[in-house]
Amino acid sequence: MSQKRIVIIGGGFGGVKCARTLRSQLRKGDAEVILFNSENHLVFSPLLADAVGSSLNLQDVTVPLRQLLPDVICRMEEVYSIDPAADCLEYKGHDGLPRQLHYDHLVIACGNISNLNVVPGMVDHAFPLKTVGDAAVLRTQVLSRLEKAEVCDDDERRRWYLSFIVVGGGYSGVETAGEINDLVRSSRRFYSNIREEDISVTLIHSRDQLLPEISPSLREFAREKMAGAGVTIRLNARVQLATGEGVGLAGEFIHGGTIVCTIGSTIAPMVERLDTPKQKGRLLTDPDMRLCGSANVWAIGDCALVINALDGEPSPSTGQFAERQGRQCAQNIVRLMGGEPTRPFSFRVLGQLCSIGGHNAVAEMFGFKLSGFWAWFAWRGVYLFKLPAWSRRIQVGFDWAWLVLFPRDLSYLKTEVTDRVMHAHYEAGYYIFKQGEVAMNFYVIEQGEVEICRASAEHPDGEIIATLGPGSFFGEQALMDNRPRSASIRARSTVEVIVMGQNVFTSISKTLAPLRSALMATITRRTPNVWQERPRVRAALKEFDLADFIEPAPEPLLLPTETLIEVTRRFGESDEPLFLVSTDGDRLEGMVTLTDLLRAQANGLGRETPLSEFMIRQPATLSATDTCLIAAAAFREHGHKLLPVVRDGESLGIVGVIRARKLIARVMQVVGPPAKPAATSATVHDSSSEAVV
Ligand SMILES: Cc1cc2nc3c(=O)[nH]c(=O)nc-3n(C[C@H](O)[C@H](O)[C@H](O)COP(=O)(O)OP(=O)(O)OC[C@H]3O[C@@H](n4cnc5c(N)ncnc54)[C@H](O)[C@@H]3O)c2cc1C
Repeated sequence: MSQKRIVIIGGGFGGVKCARTLRSQLRKGDAEVILFNSENHLVFSPLLADAVGSSLNLQDVTVPLRQLLPDVICRMEEVYSIDPAADCLEYKGHDGLPRQLHYDHLVIACGNISNLNVVPGMVDHAFPLKTVGDAAVLRTQVLSRLEKAEVCDDDERRRWYLSFIVVGGGYSGVETAGEINDLVRSSRRFYSNIREEDISVTLIHSRDQLLPEISPSLREFAREKMAGAGVTIRLNARVQLATGEGVGLAGEFIHGGTIVCTIGSTIAPMVERLDTPKQKGRLLTDPDMRLCGSANVWAIGDCALVINALDGEPSPSTGQFAERQGRQCAQNIVRLMGGEPTRPFSFRVLGQLCSIGGHNAVAEMFGFKLSGFWAWFAWRGVYLFKLPAWSRRIQVGFDWAWLVLFPRDLSYLKTEVTDRVMHAHYEAGYYIFKQGEVAMNFYVIEQGEVEICRASAEHPDGEIIATLGPGSFFGEQALMDNRPRSASIRARSTVEVIVMGQNVFTSISKTLAPLRSALMATITRRTPNVWQERPRVRAALKEFDLADFIEPAPEPLLLPTETLIEVTRRFGESDEPLFLVSTDGDRLEGMVTLTDLLRAQANGLGRETPLSEFMIRQPATLSATDTCLIAAAAFREHGHKLLPVVRDGESLGIVGVIRARKLIARVMQVVGPPAKPAATSATVHDSSSEAVV
């Protein structure tokens, strides 16, 4: 048998179990197993609430995939599309460029993602709890609220700081509310200004009982115990909006300084793009977990809708089911490779466990019901046993034992790097940043010019797609989208830039409306969906020779000493939209457009004001060696109808000008007018995009 390639997307409960089972049942020579995951660890989500409540360290709820799966090829890259017809998937490589990989079998186990859009305002004001990052941020929020409350001398504000609202009465909502309640109330003794009655933890649930999955007597026990511990439980209450001050219910507003949202999930974009039958956003599968109609693509866990052959019901979105599907899916792949028939997924639930805070839990296992301390003890034992690595089991056991003797840890770490605004200088040819690098800063060009270079399959060493000059900025898009740089920026001449760290950029762009508008306008301008036929336009622009478009600069070249009234006369006598400025008739010193002239007059400048005071110094220029592709990008970026062409960025010797009108007319001749925009998401991952980094 030739070696097969089995690819798994997702290193959660389902994907990890599948990979481990495959490795234990197949020899290395029979198949290589490749697992893609966005992070380099498995998240043990049942313990996330413990991490929020400081019962566990954040590290304890993760297990490193590489150590967990020694014989599996682990790739920390994101898959963003699958082509089942070609048995191929596309993923984002280390440098941000798309790459393809073929497979013999593909297992989709990518779970789902939080969706705070379920209630207006949640996205802006609520904390989700799905990843370790979410747990870290929420823990920091809770502890920093305690610190703020301690030093606040306004009683009402202090109570607001100490009001925590958890939305959703399922397992994660109940466990999170219980943990936050325990953390805040048990830590009160370390804060001299916080009184018991200042604290409130409210759990809001839209149904008439918490924990719908477990039996009524246990639900009632959970409700009573939590209420006794100080959690206010609001049943039959639907949150209709969230604001910075709290949440709105029908006819009522609950104030709270921290809102946690445990409801709402949606499918990952990769699953959404997959053209295959879905139900409620989950991938529909055949009984053996293969995608409907597919011979070699399987789907398991939260992203799949798998019918349980035991009761004919769809499997719930739980870790227990994901894990079992992972194992049975691997067994089916092995059967198929051995020429045997596959089996339908079938699983009897082992039990339900939920911790409710205050060393209490509710549990239903093997038909037995348990509640209170012994249920809590069983809960801890089961999860300790279920952690997939001995090192983590020992660590978690130790952390839990530690809490018997010592209080919860109240320190929280600030993770922001020291932020700054600074000037930087680059010599021509130096890179300011490279494609694929993590985005850290935003840049504004003070002097000089930069080139935007993008590497692609066609141009592995990078192709210059645009240039930017003084006053332009770059680096905003990757910062705002929180993704790696999509192109490199290289100094074209000596360049001076202002560099803003991410936090400074975020706070200024949020508060300073003009900057925000400029950013939005630039992003819109740089978004590459203007011409649906762009590949043909690009091809045409590459074919053209810039020299064919260069014509003499508008006559005359103006002197920087000419007065406002003289410049007004020049425009009156000419149809040109702008004039170039030069003292010696060779070196470009500036440029003046009709808009600059009107602005100077509107600003009340005197008739004798010299041109040097209102011209554009260091205007955007093209160099004689540039391509027409760069010229087109420069016209789009700067919005001028005409751009000067110079010998090079250092000498600035005037060669002539290029008119946008002529370039566009030539493009139209070759490719025809732009097609009507189609309703397609194809541009989202278009690697040839001109959008800036
Ligand atoms: C707070 C909380 C508490 C919970 N408590 C319990 C509990 O007590 N008991 C229980 O049974 N269940 C519990 N669950 C539910 C359980 O965690 C999920 O049902 C389970 O994790 C689903 O497993 P999965 O393998 O389908 O997906 P996940 O565990 O979500 O893993 C999916 C993985 O795929 C990765 N991924 C996604 N898209 C891509 C891509 N395009 N490329 C590469 N990688 C990708 C993700 O980064 C992730 O690591 C809880 C969930 C939460 C959030």
